[in-house]
Amino acid sequence: MNRSELTVDLGALRRNVTTLRRALGRAELWAVVKADGYGHGAPDVARAALEAGASALCVATVAEGLALRRDFPDRRILVMGPADAADAREARLELTIADGRIPEGVRCHLKLDTGMGRYGLSELPEPPASVVGLMTHLATADTDVSFAERQVELFLEATAPYAHLTRHAANSAAALRLPSARLDAARCGVALYGLSPFGSDPADDGLEPVLRWQSRLAQVKRLDVGESTGYGRQFMAQSPTWIGIVPVGYADGFRRDLTGTEVLVDGERRRVVGTISMDSFAVELDRELPVGSTVVLLGDGLRAEEHARVAGTINYELVCGIGAGSTATRADRKVVDA
Ligand SMILES: *Cc1c(COP(=O)(O)O)cnc(C)c1O
Repeated sequence: MNRSELTVDLGALRRNVTTLRRALGRAELWAVVKADGYGHGAPDVARAALEAGASALCVATVAEGLALRRDFPDRRILVMGPADAADAREARLELTIADGRIPEGVRCHLKLDTGMGRYGLSELPEPPASVVGLMTHLATADTDVSFAERQVELFLEATAPYAHLTRHAANSAAALRLPSARLDAARCGVALYGLSPFGSDPADDGLEPVLRWQSRLAQVKRLDVGESTGYGRQFMAQSPTWIGIVPVGYADGFRRDLTGTEVLVDGERRRVVGTISMDSFAVELDRELPVGSTVVLLGDGLRAEEHARVAGTINYELVCGIGAGSTATRADRKVVDA
């Protein structure tokens, strides 16, 4: 094993797709695999999601779309961010139009701003023939249901004359808990990966985390009273204390603000102490353990949502930072189908 090992479980991803499709009923599930599949590896998760019944892929950029087009010559791929039509046309990517001219010869989705206050048209023009879909994006599907429902109402009103086009508004949170937003298709990202869009336990919505991250103790030592570990001497032993050093740090995506979170050492929850370095961090032990003992950073019941809470961020940002799909990642990567 390298310094750490990431495991992407496509079986779990397929089961999450099934859970979402069951919630969605007749609405299609479109798999959002931007940012390299939320750090999990876009080609692998895209393949598994399509096999499990997703009917299109969604990305943020044309470059992401072009990369996927090589692996999936015949699948629908929607670019959700601003893009140049000329680049998209040849690769048969579908485009999101949020302002300006509507291009011809490329399948377009008109995006209406109903309250996100970001990309989007403030009024819907008469859709020309190149338009196949109408969409909006919800600002509060995870936090404020009544505002989200208001956005859906505005969207339905504005798009009523064009109900023959594919209308889509829902993200993961809306797909799971906001029936009025499901419409013709839902663009689901975070839930595919078994992460909760609500920052709660994914199991509450029948979701299973896809990513597991494991390392081991590289060194074990005893600190005497008054001795410290790491930069700035932020953790000082109040009594004789065993600590383990884990060869993973913020350069691997184990962020500096994760001090205080827990990891599983030999299956038991232990607290991360001291300043997290670029390549290592320390964990407080209750006894001397052998070097090489397993340390689970994510998975086996240790959830990204817990780490996110400690770091004052969201699970989305955490997994994107680990970059399990990137060839530049410093961890070994394994794809399984359990
Ligand atoms: C990222 C994104 C989604 C997916 O959101 P999740 O919360 O991850 O399901 C849906 N629609 C748009 C426009 C997005 O940018």
